[in-house]
Amino acid sequence: MELFDKTSFTIIAGPCSVYSWNQIDKTAHALKKLGVKFLRGGAYKMRTSPSSWQGIGEKGWHYLYEVAKKHDMKTVSEVTSVEHINTICSLIDVILVGTRNMQNYPLLKKLGEVEKPVILKRGMASTIEEWIEAAKYITNSGNKNIILCERGIRTFETYTRNTLDVSAIDAVKRLSNYQVIGDPSHATGKKEMVRPMAWALAAAGADGLMIECEINPNKKNCDYRQTIDVSEFELILQQLPKITDIWGKKY
Ligand code: PEP
Ligand code: MN
Repeated sequence: MELFDKTSFTIIAGPCSVYSWNQIDKTAHALKKLGVKFLRGGAYKMRTSPSSWQGIGEKGWHYLYEVAKKHDMKTVSEVTSVEHINTICSLIDVILVGTRNMQNYPLLKKLGEVEKPVILKRGMASTIEEWIEAAKYITNSGNKNIILCERGIRTFETYTRNTLDVSAIDAVKRLSNYQVIGDPSHATGKKEMVRPMAWALAAAGADGLMIECEINPNKKNCDYRQTIDVSEFELILQQLPKITDIWGKKY
């Protein structure tokens, strides 16, 4: 499956983590109505603290699989370990490698052998060059369908969760042939900053966006602070064509 083509702007949206069938089903229904084709959701979570909630595991991929079939959508979910690759590939359309695994070279090499698109998030303390070199571990093992994702990097700034490196979008395009998308949710950690940063990423020439969005963001859920609701998501989409038009991309 070709994830992106040069003339389209791809939106991936959904909750940080899968909790229940109801949550995913209702969110998918609302997003599909807005034209979203790719539904995201985490099943195995890579959390900074081992005492934080770790995700519902494989059941989350089954929920995504069933819900996506029902609403005619494609799915995106993170693989955290080599031992899960066969299972995730049987249930999920696009495989995500999170920031904490960007330099997990055994995982990257194994993903080079699968026939699914892989989204490689930038390591939170990785240079653009290190990120592109990491992507080559996948490409060199055979899989050419790689998309990079800028998700913010660690700096001295504390107002935002990470510092969004908008210039990375342009740099990746100059230094490689990889497609590159942006994640304004993890980059900022703040729902009120998702809209302007989504537009900024599109203006910089990104090939798409990945946004954490839920029908009813629940205060108790993972990454609640950065998860926007569907009406906010709609506001982002309404103005987006004005920006993606600059680059000849259609949403
Ligand atoms: C995610 O997108 O689900 C995620 C965990 O993000 P990151 O790896 O960028 O922190
Ligand atoms: Mn998250």
